[in-house]
Amino acid sequence: MRPRPAHLLAVLLMGASPAAAFETCVAGLERDARARGVPAAVVEAAFAGVERDERVLQFSTAQPEFVTPIWDYLAFLVDDERIEDGRRMLTEHRDLLARIEASFGVDRHVVLAIWGVESDYGRITGSFFIPHALSTLVCAGTRRQDFWRGELMAALQLVARGDVALDDLRGSWAGAFGQTQFIPSSYARLAVDFDGDGRRDLVRSIPDALASTANYLQRAGWQTGRPWMIEVKVPANYTGPQGRRDKVSLDTWSRRGVVRADGAAIGGAAQAGLLLPAGPSGPGFLVFANFDAIFSYNHAESYALAIAHLADRIAGYPALRTPWPTDDPGLSRAERRLLQERLLAAGIDIGTVDGRIGPVTRAGIREAEARFGLPVTGRPGRRILDALGG
Ligand code: CA
Repeated sequence: MRPRPAHLLAVLLMGASPAAAFETCVAGLERDARARGVPAAVVEAAFAGVERDERVLQFSTAQPEFVTPIWDYLAFLVDDERIEDGRRMLTEHRDLLARIEASFGVDRHVVLAIWGVESDYGRITGSFFIPHALSTLVCAGTRRQDFWRGELMAALQLVARGDVALDDLRGSWAGAFGQTQFIPSSYARLAVDFDGDGRRDLVRSIPDALASTANYLQRAGWQTGRPWMIEVKVPANYTGPQGRRDKVSLDTWSRRGVVRADGAAIGGAAQAGLLLPAGPSGPGFLVFANFDAIFSYNHAESYALAIAHLADRIAGYPALRTPWPTDDPGLSRAERRLLQERLLAAGIDIGTVDGRIGPVTRAGIREAEARFGLPVTGRPGRRILDALGG
């Protein structure tokens, strides 16, 4: 008996299981890669054993538990370890950094700061195999499929060109990889071979990675020899203009009552915007065109602030003068490890002490906060660290 059309439809729908749809989609990616000139052996190895990776899908849809306060973000990214490591790298790579400055005109401290924040100076570059992570986003994700497909093809073409080994395509769930965490399309467009071996290898070559970062900033409008940011104070209860894009001269800011953080006057024709990330009572920052170049690296003002400030600290400038307006400051990585040790000592199992505040540590912090009668936030701050130490 012939199935009626409705039955046929049901059979077809049942046949299109998620697993089969994923395989069909991956087969399409393989065809696409070969059509773009990626050798068959590379295509075969790139997609061998590919499965949808639930961790990638979780990351791609994760909502932050809460908005990280700016002081937590900076305490973590611009801590003593990262400053000291940066100063050591400044000495260790002095000649390389001088050549990069001469070639691209970009300040060495900013290049080092990006390296330090993106991968802890090459120590942590991510462990997701990029072809599989991006296949998951194209074939099992729900948004930006064309973007992820483009990044996947760009990654495989980098291998086909001999820039990077297939097995070195390991990085973030979203495809950023290498010492300074380029996404494949940026890598293809902006990476440079600076050690002269004919390959642009941002995974294994520090010269290539740092020079490519300088090239990125130069192409984003870096102005040689100009400042990126200065810490300032605004008048109490300041309600005037602010914003990164609304740049006016330092003379104008001076007329609006803005002074350097140490109280010294500012002035001149240089154009800057005003950032008050924690309101007028916290630290203020005048940010210049070079800050915008840093911003273009990872579109977040908090990120650009961290890079700009870390660059200043590596260069030997002091910590921020104005304290953040909070009675519960953020913690460095060393203090985060101490917090985890104290949680363990208090009988709260948070797993391994690694300084990373994931869901398990946050749950432990909430448990400790409840125990001490503190507001339950799950946030790694000074208050709960001190309470556990007391
Ligand atoms: Ca090279």
